[in-house]
Amino acid sequence: MRKILMAASEAGPYAKTGGLADVLGSLPVALQKEGTDTRVIMPKYGTIASELKEKMVHLCYFYVNIGWRSQYCGIEMAEEGGITYYFIDNEYYFNREGYYGYQDDGERFAFFCRSVLDALPHIDFVPDILHCHDWQTGMIPPLLEAQYRSLPLYREIATVFTIHNLRYQGIYGVSDMKDWFGLGDEYFTSDKLEFYGGASFLKGGLTYSQILTTVSETYSEEVKYPFFGEQLDGLLKAREKDLYGILNGIDYDEYNPKNDPYLYYNFTKSNLNGKSANKKALQQELNLMVDESLPMIGFISRLVDQKGLDLIACVLDEILAEQVQLVFLGAGSENYENMLRDAMYRYPGKVSATIRFDNALAHKIYASSDFFLMPSLFEPCGLGQLISLRYGTLPIVRETGGLKDTILSYNEETGEGNGFSFTNYNAHDMLFTIKRALKLYSKKTLRAKLRKSAMSCDYSWRSSAKKYIKLYEKLIIRNKSERAEFSYEERSNPAVISLIPAIE
Ligand code: ADP
Repeated sequence: MRKILMAASEAGPYAKTGGLADVLGSLPVALQKEGTDTRVIMPKYGTIASELKEKMVHLCYFYVNIGWRSQYCGIEMAEEGGITYYFIDNEYYFNREGYYGYQDDGERFAFFCRSVLDALPHIDFVPDILHCHDWQTGMIPPLLEAQYRSLPLYREIATVFTIHNLRYQGIYGVSDMKDWFGLGDEYFTSDKLEFYGGASFLKGGLTYSQILTTVSETYSEEVKYPFFGEQLDGLLKAREKDLYGILNGIDYDEYNPKNDPYLYYNFTKSNLNGKSANKKALQQELNLMVDESLPMIGFISRLVDQKGLDLIACVLDEILAEQVQLVFLGAGSENYENMLRDAMYRYPGKVSATIRFDNALAHKIYASSDFFLMPSLFEPCGLGQLISLRYGTLPIVRETGGLKDTILSYNEETGEGNGFSFTNYNAHDMLFTIKRALKLYSKKTLRAKLRKSAMSCDYSWRSSAKKYIKLYEKLIIRNKSERAEFSYEERSNPAVISLIPAIE
């Protein structure tokens, strides 16, 4: 049985700020169903719910070197949904409020990266594939090549790195990075870790991992261009033979209108009565005008510029000139939080803005809304639109990244489509699309048809998990041949890695 270890900074149900946690909570289950032994390793944060912490078992502890310091590292273990999770325990680094945004995040995740590698002999689980996710795990592959490869236990481990969002990179000063990782000058050149005068965790992952993936096919193409590439487009273009786009799925058990425990009323594709009953109950809960016939547009997101909030700000009053309600749930940049609070103040009964992270409310909004707005500037995959489809809520999206790959704009000629979309990052294009959606919404039979076709889409993990398995299998074969062909020193040289033939 293939052994896969996923390393990430968040994973549902333990810690979540966005889609990464959804993926780490559901992809392992899908991979397990395909006959692998997939486990997850993540930090043990102070904010993990106490009932989940109570289920953790202490496995062992050891000390991890961070520069000249030697830090305690406990390993806790828990099983959830059939998946084994390991937790890196260090109260100083991780027993804090929230997950990120601390001045010493670089050192915290440097500790995490080294702890993951140091943990392997202690947890008695040497993976065939070490699958790292996003910048917080980016230094695992370089450390593996530079300092662990020559040890027998680490010899055969193959590496995959998934970019969930290229914007967040973990860039720190070269001297700090040298200190944390004990790496010499030779690693801080422009073909390795150096990045515009600093050094980058993410670049480490992109340079040293054998295979790179992104979370949709379109995003895997987009990142090779300067607009989306976040100054790493050149590197990604150079590594395009090893770069794959595999679309995220969602957990069809967690997001299931038939038995979702967070909803006021459950409903199914064949009986949608519960959907409008949910809307009424949500209108009451959020102090909105209670009127089933008013179209409701939901928006649930981190409040950052990536999510198209500038477009919303630009035409907010024009949207609200329509017969419509807007329901926002999110937290993030203060300017966007205030923009939404202001809209709620100016449009009582028409706008609701809940500024926090609230999973239960998110489920209610997905189920109650008629439309779900995602006008993103860029979107590596996007899960909101997939969750919406599951609840018969029609996405209104901008055609970028995963939004482009999953939402087909309704075509009046052919009757095809599962939502509405626009091409340019332009507020009035968005406004036009919203108005078009509202107009079609008024046609009862069409509305019912569109909801049914949205709910008939299958964005579960089934097909994407198979794609990962196929990729892992090819990589394992390639890894074996590489290990036979190259010396240990050669193997830690990215120039040699780039010579190795790509998987066909
Ligand atoms: P990203 O990963 O960029 O944040 P995605 O669309 O891929 O965006 O995933 C976002 C996930 O986080 C979804 O499951 C969404 O429902 C959830 N989410 C975002 N903001 C909130 C919030 N304030 N409260 C509850 N869930 C949220």
